[in-house]
Amino acid sequence: MKKVSIVIPVYNEEAIVSELIGRLQKATSALPYQFEFILVDDGSTDSTLCNLLQIQRSDSRLIILKLSRNWGHQNAYNAGLDHVTGNAVILMDGDLEDPPEMISVFLQKWEEGFDVVYALKETRQESIFKKFLFSIFYSILQTISDISVEKQAGMFSLMDEKVIRELIQLKERNKYYVGLRYMLGFKQVSVSYNREKRFAGKPRQSFRKLMNYAFNAFFSFSFLPIRLLTYSGMFILATIVIMSIILVTMKLFKSYIPFYHDLPGWTSVILAFLFLLGIQITFMGILGEYIARIFDEVRNRPYYIVEKVLRNPGQIDKTINES
Ligand code: UDP
Ligand code: MG
Repeated sequence: MKKVSIVIPVYNEEAIVSELIGRLQKATSALPYQFEFILVDDGSTDSTLCNLLQIQRSDSRLIILKLSRNWGHQNAYNAGLDHVTGNAVILMDGDLEDPPEMISVFLQKWEEGFDVVYALKETRQESIFKKFLFSIFYSILQTISDISVEKQAGMFSLMDEKVIRELIQLKERNKYYVGLRYMLGFKQVSVSYNREKRFAGKPRQSFRKLMNYAFNAFFSFSFLPIRLLTYSGMFILATIVIMSIILVTMKLFKSYIPFYHDLPGWTSVILAFLFLLGIQITFMGILGEYIARIFDEVRNRPYYIVEKVLRNPGQIDKTINES
């Protein structure tokens, strides 16, 4: 029988986990596959882990990865992906915005021969402000990035083991999975779904984390920001050359130009100075973004640490440090 791994990161989701597992069990009960549910506990401080252990007693398909602290949504996925053993892997958020009932649709497409099946959100149950931000994010990303990322695509997807093999081999630390999934290629297909409301609680990803995510997406998939730096530098240089030629010529022939005055030029000098300073600082920031990412990559720090892998009732399988 083919094996399917389902990876779900959870962070302080005590109010959701039992409903989540319940719906997962129901959605997969009639499917002819062997399942493993890999729940990554991303440093929860509430009783999420406790609840999961409780459920695990009656369902040994549950494997819990307890991370050493809160490492963030993407890194929690990283941790889960490094532990999968299935022939296909499904990634889904743990707040039930991604309905487990889609699993059968994913698997059907997989059986049809697709290596990557990803869900497109037809509707999103978010605030108008958040929807607006997401829409700006994807529009910018689509315009500037070297690969095309569909507006409504997210983490919710199935990947064949051969895609996963390539994915976990990628050595970069700041992974933006949605982009990487497109980059890898293979036979891909999308399916639409209605994104549900979060089952309980507030989103666990702070605005700062989401901004971080957006920046990673921009800077790891596009050199356009850095190229703009070169272009604007060249543009400014060309303008300055042309302006100097005009100004020097005017100065040389000022006796022939009736309206020529030696203007004090204070305002224009200040304005030009501020304009250039603004451009310089902006683009130094952009350079900094790339350098920070290079630094992050070469520093080679772990992007998650698994404190414990918990399989079956309370049994601690191994204690490992992963990087
Ligand atoms: N999550 C996590 N670590 C974090 C933040 C979130 O593992 O630091 C989990 C969270 O429990 C949920 C999923 O990632 O299962 C998606 O998070 P959330 O719903 O907060 O994000 P959003 O829906 O706003 O993208
Ligand atoms: Mg959510």
